[in-house]
Amino acid sequence: MSSAEVLGAVLEGICGHVTPIRVIKGGQEFEVGGPEAWGRAARVRVNRALRSVGAVAPHVKLEPDTQVHAWGSSLDLAIAVAAASCRGLVLGDIRRTAFVGELSMDGKILPTPGTLSMAVAVADAGCERLYVATGVAAGVAGVGVEAALESRLTVIPVSSFGDLLEAINGAPTVLAHPAESPTVPAFAPSFLGDPVALRAVEVAAVGGHGILLIGPHGVGKTVLGRILRDLLPPPFPDEALEITMIHSACGLLLDRPGLVAHRPFRAPHHTCSTAALVGGGTPLRPGEVTLAHNGVLLLDEVTEFTSASLEAVAAALADGEVVHSRHDRRVVFPSSAQLVATATACPCGRLGSVDLGKTCMCSRDSIARHQARIDRLREFLPITAHVRASTHSNTEYSISAGRDRVASARAIRAERIGSDGWYVSTADPDWVGDERAHRIARTIADLEGSATVTERHHAEAISILNGPHR
Ligand SMILES: [Zn+2]
Repeated sequence: MSSAEVLGAVLEGICGHVTPIRVIKGGQEFEVGGPEAWGRAARVRVNRALRSVGAVAPHVKLEPDTQVHAWGSSLDLAIAVAAASCRGLVLGDIRRTAFVGELSMDGKILPTPGTLSMAVAVADAGCERLYVATGVAAGVAGVGVEAALESRLTVIPVSSFGDLLEAINGAPTVLAHPAESPTVPAFAPSFLGDPVALRAVEVAAVGGHGILLIGPHGVGKTVLGRILRDLLPPPFPDEALEITMIHSACGLLLDRPGLVAHRPFRAPHHTCSTAALVGGGTPLRPGEVTLAHNGVLLLDEVTEFTSASLEAVAAALADGEVVHSRHDRRVVFPSSAQLVATATACPCGRLGSVDLGKTCMCSRDSIARHQARIDRLREFLPITAHVRASTHSNTEYSISAGRDRVASARAIRAERIGSDGWYVSTADPDWVGDERAHRIARTIADLEGSATVTERHHAEAISILNGPHR
């Protein structure tokens, strides 16, 4: 055979693209094209794979007009199959079939990030079969692989290039089933904390409102952020698939493939670059706002983040997506997450502490500047909760009971607005005057199962907006 065409796939951002690999005989040596460094490495890997089945790589090269708009090691398998086909080693039918996987130096097939996104693209392109790496799941949960979450495809896991050729040529294969979901993080059953702050967190969970938690170091502000995530209902199936595709594309599921059936919780450090927060770099990678999509983004010690970073995060959350331009192409990362921020009331973090020996030594001016910064943040964080240090008024808060209340209130809200999907109202500087108070009062009424907003709901909303202990 003097030429061959085999379908591969690559990941761009968090989306997969089907890429036809066309090779023709000719050239001085085996040429795979693409960026020089990538081409060199791919050529070595593909040559080794062919040698592992006793074949010598033919003198083949990619057809000059082959349209590949992104390169990645996930194309290894398709290139190797095309080369093997030119060598007469592929006897079975490989029409409507795609191949996704990286080859190791000894002919093993390795899973690559974003396999699920690529499987979806392969199915969208009308393919019926997909060969992928067996992956580490083989020893844990049979042949469960992430790509099998795409139910339109017959997914065939293979562990080596030799096994792949045998499978194509008719050897019996074991079909993959979807890998089991990674373990859902254990929820703490209860939390001993400030009841006023916990009430504010619950209101935030119902309304999807951004929340700012202010208090001295060590009072559990970060834990409250985690509790907010734990109060949210589990993701709907389409949301879970989206979360899984994002986490897979970022390489977070290589050692534990499967549907991510819990809402993400991301807490980037304040030293994170803006690119790490909203995406960027080469190759283009999603940022923390996208990893938090359909979940919670916690900015701990929010006053320590740079203004540029905070503006980028606020814009991403307000738009629900981040758009990057690459090679005249538009790459979109979803970024609909609920924002939780924590801050101390003064630069040293001791203001409000009840511990002996932890007296705030900050000057009045530095406290005023710090407060001014916090006030600016409240533009897009409508709820403010001042978290008090442990006191006798702290009560045991049952997280499962809180989750039930939030679920009931969200159901009421869904019926009222006619939508039951994920929603956040984190970045809302456009809310003016009474609109903020009214929206939060409406959320409190939902939480209490009340069809109407009463004066009492309104009073609590005003208290939450202004921060009760200021
Ligand atoms: Zn201080």
